[in-house]
Amino acid sequence: MPDNASAGARSLLAALCVGLLTCIGAHTARAGDCPGHPDALGTSRTLVVDPREHPRIGTMQYSETLPLRDHEVVLTFDDGPLPRNSDQVLRILASQCVKATFFTIGRMAQAYPEGVRKLVEAGHSVGTHSQNHPLTMNHMPIDAAKREIDGGIVSVRSALGDYGALAPFFRIPGLLRAEDVEEYLASQGIQIWSADFLADDWRHISSSRVFELAIKRLEQRGKGILLLHDIQARTVAALPRILNELKVRGYHIVHVVPATPQTPATPTDSQEWQLYPVSENVAISRWPKIPNFAFRDTEMLPAPAISELDWPRVQAMSLAEEDRGIPVRRGTRPGRLAWPGPMPLQTAETAATLPVPDHTVFQIREGLRAATRGLTAPHRAEQAGPADYQATSRQARNLPAIMSGKAGRSRVARVHQKPQSTHGRRGAIKHLVQVRKRSA
Ligand SMILES: [Zn+2]
Repeated sequence: MPDNASAGARSLLAALCVGLLTCIGAHTARAGDCPGHPDALGTSRTLVVDPREHPRIGTMQYSETLPLRDHEVVLTFDDGPLPRNSDQVLRILASQCVKATFFTIGRMAQAYPEGVRKLVEAGHSVGTHSQNHPLTMNHMPIDAAKREIDGGIVSVRSALGDYGALAPFFRIPGLLRAEDVEEYLASQGIQIWSADFLADDWRHISSSRVFELAIKRLEQRGKGILLLHDIQARTVAALPRILNELKVRGYHIVHVVPATPQTPATPTDSQEWQLYPVSENVAISRWPKIPNFAFRDTEMLPAPAISELDWPRVQAMSLAEEDRGIPVRRGTRPGRLAWPGPMPLQTAETAATLPVPDHTVFQIREGLRAATRGLTAPHRAEQAGPADYQATSRQARNLPAIMSGKAGRSRVARVHQKPQSTHGRRGAIKHLVQVRKRSA
């Protein structure tokens, strides 16, 4: 956006944030402090974050995530507002006095501006999710990406009017990140929210399955940011059970709001932003890069003769030490083995030479990649990473179809949900072995 417009928007944002925080303060409730709902889950605390200090969060894609304590959960809802389902989500959250963060689409905000105002009125945080929800932000020209980001902000802000503030939070459609997009958002002081886990509620699965996945994946992590969709009927159906289960299992809801000059960020340690802090005592293993060999034209080296190794002499020395009474524990080598002295190389008599490998020996063939992909596909489907999210959230492209409830089951979704047979996996393993044999 232009600088003057940006400055004006920032001052408006700062002014509106005061109102929003007042609103949040009035609506944030602890468990047992929810009028009319004594057994409500409630919102345990409000976390104030500075997007400029932590521009990217969510361990599905980034090294940092919200500094949550064990058993703390942040709920997020994407793609709304769609009154038919979003209003029900709001009622369910209100019945439990739970505050969440909504990532709204500009076009949806234009169609249902009152839906955006209801979010702020209820005390939730409202971020944006682009203007048209393109599932191409990972490769679209940066100017087009900027138009999507800025357009979404303008649309949602105009829907809010003087009603409340827009949080500088953004979720990339389909989680399809790109470095230039991330850099642009950071330059605007906007925080990118990935997620810590999903419940696959955009897929064609039952609401029971959404509930199961939400709880199962949360239990695996113990805390984190859950990504849901307030436009989905199955999410509406699953949400009461999810909230009840969170309460039963002792989880707490955290509401996240952006820092302002009046409300500084909650003091945190940088380590708290790492979901799995790296300990200095734990060795970090990294897969080494394949060295760039270029030895084809170099001189060949003579191979050492077997006689140069002098193993009999080494063995004789160790036995001699044992004879002298030096204790030698079973299964270990003697501690004072003398290293054999230097021996003259017999280069003149050595006929054998070792060939130097060509760099093509180290190339990974396409067939091996394909076999590896075949082996990991079921794991990826279960983990539901960004790639799966991208493929099966294609329905979000067709917002009118979703709104009218006519969105069909996509071909891609069927492909991802098709169970892979044992026979198929065996085939992949067999292929992998064959490729390795050929490489050798
Ligand atoms: Zn979305």
